[in-house]
Amino acid sequence: MPVLHNRISNEELKARMLAETEPRTTVSFYKYFSIDDPKAFRDSLYIQFDRLKVFGRIYVAKEGINAQISVPQSHFDAFKTVLFASHPALDQVRLNIALEDDGKSFWVLRLKVRERIVADGIEDATFDPANVGQYLQAASVNQMIDDPNTVFVDMRNHYEYEVGHFENAIEVPSDTFREQLPMAVELLQEQKDKNIVMYCTGGIRCEKASAYMLHNGFKNVYHIEGGIIEYVRKAKAQGLPLKFVGKNFVFDERMGERISEDVIANCHQCGAPCDTHTNCLNDGCHLLFIQCPSCAAKFEGCCSDNCREELKLPRDEQRARRAGRENGVKIFNKSKGLLQGTLHIPAPNNKNR
Ligand SMILES: [Zn+2]
Ligand SMILES: [Zn+2]
Repeated sequence: MPVLHNRISNEELKARMLAETEPRTTVSFYKYFSIDDPKAFRDSLYIQFDRLKVFGRIYVAKEGINAQISVPQSHFDAFKTVLFASHPALDQVRLNIALEDDGKSFWVLRLKVRERIVADGIEDATFDPANVGQYLQAASVNQMIDDPNTVFVDMRNHYEYEVGHFENAIEVPSDTFREQLPMAVELLQEQKDKNIVMYCTGGIRCEKASAYMLHNGFKNVYHIEGGIIEYVRKAKAQGLPLKFVGKNFVFDERMGERISEDVIANCHQCGAPCDTHTNCLNDGCHLLFIQCPSCAAKFEGCCSDNCREELKLPRDEQRARRAGRENGVKIFNKSKGLLQGTLHIPAPNNKNR
C-alpha cells in the first residue's frame, strides 16, 4: 500500500521547496460534475500528482473538484495530460494561471475529500449545482457593464469587494457564502427581469450562485467564466479596456493583485487612501485589516495599541492571555466593526496547516 499523504514536517517541506531552483507555475482549476466515489478518485489523483511534485490544496467532493496548486514547469505538460485523463468531465478543463506569482505559495500536496467543494448550506435535494448560468467572456463582460438593464453582482466577501470590484457592481453584504445565496435572491427580487451577472475571484462561487439563481426562478443569469482572474487575463490578451477597478484580493501571501491604479479603499486606522491588507502581528489577534505604511510604523504592524503592547510582553505572558480567548479568524468589516468570521483566511505564518 503506497503512502497517500506526506510524513515529513512542515518546516522541512518548506525548506525543500525554497531550495528548489526550478520555477513553478501556480494554477487553479475547478469543475462541478458528479463524482460517484470521491475517495477512490482522490487516491488515484494523489498518486499521480505526487509523482509530478505538485504542491497545493485540492478538494474533492461528490459535486466536483477545486484545486489551487503549483507545478514544476518541466512537469506542466505531464500534469495536464494526467488531469485531463482523470475523468471525462475534466478533459480540457480551464486552468487559471496566476498572473503574478513566484510559485512559492505551497510546499506540500494536500488532497482532501469534502462534503462540498464550496459550502453552500443548501439542503434542497433538487438543487443541481451543475445547471449553471451562461458563461461570459471578457468582451461580453465589457459590453454588458454599461447596459442599464444589467446588474453586476459581486459574490465575494466584503474585504475583497472593498479593495477592488467591477465598475458599478453591487455587493451581497454577508459574511459567508451560505448566507449570501438566499440574500442575493432577496436583494435582486425587484430586478428579476434584468440580466444578472455574477462574479467572484476564480469563478467557483459565482458559478454555483448562478445555478442557485436559476433554481429560484431567475431567467437571465450569467457568470464570468473563470472569474476576475480569467477576465483580466483575457482582456489584457485581447487589448480590451479593463472594467475592474482596484485590486483583486487573492488567497496568498501577497493578498492582492493590482488590476487598475485606482486605490478605492482606506486605511482602517487613519482613513488615508490605501488598499494593502495585513494581518495584525500579535499572535493572539491576527486580525485581517487594511493598514497604511505610516500606521504600520506607528502601531508596529498591529491593529491597535492593545495588540502592540501585548506583543511586547514576555512570550509566556502572551500565551497565557491567548489561552482564554477564542481562536477564530478575525476580519475587519467596516460595516460591523470587528468581525468574528469562520472563513479560512491564510495568515502569512500559518497558512499551510
Ligand atoms: Zn493609516
Ligand atoms: Zn490585533
